[in-house]
Amino acid sequence: MDELRVFKCDNGHVLGVVQRSGKGLRSLLLYRYAINYEADQGAIPDVDVLAIVDSAIEIRCSVCECKRAWVPGEDELERIVSRQQRHRVEREGNNCSIMKMEGVTV
Ligand SMILES: [Zn+2]
Repeated sequence: MDELRVFKCDNGHVLGVVQRSGKGLRSLLLYRYAINYEADQGAIPDVDVLAIVDSAIEIRCSVCECKRAWVPGEDELERIVSRQQRHRVEREGNNCSIMKMEGVTV
């Protein structure tokens, strides 16, 4: 099953979803209006797909009006970043458990 990834602006509003279109290429289902999940309290509003984008484009968020560049393949970049963040959390978690153990032995 193809997994979908959301494409967000810098403030976390969902601009669209990324879909694989074969041969490693990706395209973006660009929403007409960005979704602000925090304001909608997790409810998913009806989405209106404005366009399917498969080339580099600059997208303006309809919620906060910040701009974000879409380039095909950028979701790979996000996945690498999130993997690094996860590693950092795991390391911090280990440090915490070591500190707790030290606290117990003292
Ligand atoms: Zn935004």
